[in-house]
Amino acid sequence: MAKKNRAEKIVDVSMVPDWMREFFPKAGTSLPKWRTDVLIPHVLEREGVCWVEDCWKNPSDVHEGVVTRGDVQGWANKYRVQVHVPINCIALCKECHKYAPSRKEVILWAIEYYGLWVLDWFEALPFTVNPIRGLIEEIRGNIWKG
Ligand SMILES: [Zn+2]
Repeated sequence: MAKKNRAEKIVDVSMVPDWMREFFPKAGTSLPKWRTDVLIPHVLEREGVCWVEDCWKNPSDVHEGVVTRGDVQGWANKYRVQVHVPINCIALCKECHKYAPSRKEVILWAIEYYGLWVLDWFEALPFTVNPIRGLIEEIRGNIWKG
């Protein structure tokens, strides 16, 4: 992506399909309240059981699986809240949360579940150096190869 286009690509709810915009926080959202009121019920309802294949335990934890809270430290709140979106969050049981899945597993799941637009979303996050850029390029490369 050309550098001059970066500002235009910053994440915005317009990148999200209409039906799920309510599950993406707007600028100025209070994070703890958002997680409790909107994100966690949505994610727990979506999975029903722990996200890990063949684990059928009740999910108790919501895990940020692609972009972590550490990744976005120092961002303005309006961008930092974008860690807490359904495409980045999975429901795990306590046991599976000890061995959280890799970023790659979660992003491949997100593509399968939500569609390819999730790559544009993760790519448009306002990183100076995006920690998943290599992963995104690898996935795009594999998609083009078929
Ligand atoms: Zn589990």
